Amino acid sequence: AARPATARYRGRFAPSPTGPLHFGSLVAAVASYADALAAGGGWLLRIEDVDTPRTRPGAEDAIVRALSQHGFRWDGPVVRQADRTAMYEAALAHLTAQHAIYACTCTRRALESAPLAASGERVYPGTCRARGAATGTRPVHAAQRVRVGDAVVEFVDLLQGPQRQALASDVGDFVVRRADGLFAYRLAVVVDDAAQGVTTIVRGADLLSSTPRQIFLQRLLALATPYYLHVPVAINAAGEKLSKQTHAAPLPADPLPSLLAAWGFLQQPPPLAAPRTAAEFWAHATRAWSRARLPPVAMLPAPRALSGTPCSAAKR
Ligand code: GLU
Ligand code: ZN
Repeated sequence: AARPATARYRGRFAPSPTGPLHFGSLVAAVASYADALAAGGGWLLRIEDVDTPRTRPGAEDAIVRALSQHGFRWDGPVVRQADRTAMYEAALAHLTAQHAIYACTCTRRALESAPLAASGERVYPGTCRARGAATGTRPVHAAQRVRVGDAVVEFVDLLQGPQRQALASDVGDFVVRRADGLFAYRLAVVVDDAAQGVTTIVRGADLLSSTPRQIFLQRLLALATPYYLHVPVAINAAGEKLSKQTHAAPLPADPLPSLLAAWGFLQQPPPLAAPRTAAEFWAHATRAWSRARLPPVAMLPAPRALSGTPCSAAKR
């Protein structure tokens, strides 16, 4: 999308406080911070706690502390999605005024029998689409879905290259507000990135398939589309994405080995002399960061020592 040439680079890291920072989240943080530093841009920290049932007490503090120990410095205060509900309400009202959304009362079981797309996602078959707009009244326990119509979203990821998604066949009408009243992450993220003036989003490739929906929402809400760069996701020996669910290990206390491991994972030029402090690491990272060296793949194995115990080895 067109943007004023004067827009200064602004990046961000947006962790969900579901557990401590692990190697997988560190990789995304390192990539986005290094890209911002190298561009002479700003960098924000936003806690994505919109999904309150998944939020773990203490996780936010632990993440902020770990980031700061690893030498990350963000501009301004930490922003929390839990404080921004009014903005999401306003965005939803905007969608409602355009007749872009409707209530969906499908049961979980009904949704589970929906067809699977090539992406592995369930495609919502549009069961409630005809009914929603006409009734005017909103059932209390209803999700709100946005109509995708025949939209095809195309964009060029700065690392993964050209992307294209036909929303109707790949995902179908998707949820922007859940039946429990919580806003969907993909609505919140779009509202927040625009409100915070984020120009460049560097994050894990697990979100690549969600990006066309986010761009679709940006268009409905008349928001600028930022640049996207999706870095490979770190996987464990069992091929699973590192996460709380796959028992990813929290980062060790000494930040330097993890920073260097994340740097190596991203195939960046190693420092000639081993940095002694996180600040020295970041001084090198600012000079040496190279988008051209990033591996243009969706996932890569994490170093064993930082992976934790894979799910398949633990009891599910
Ligand atoms: N909160 C998301 C996560 O932790 C990241 C969202 C984003 O970077 O856009 O997976
Ligand atoms: Zn429905």
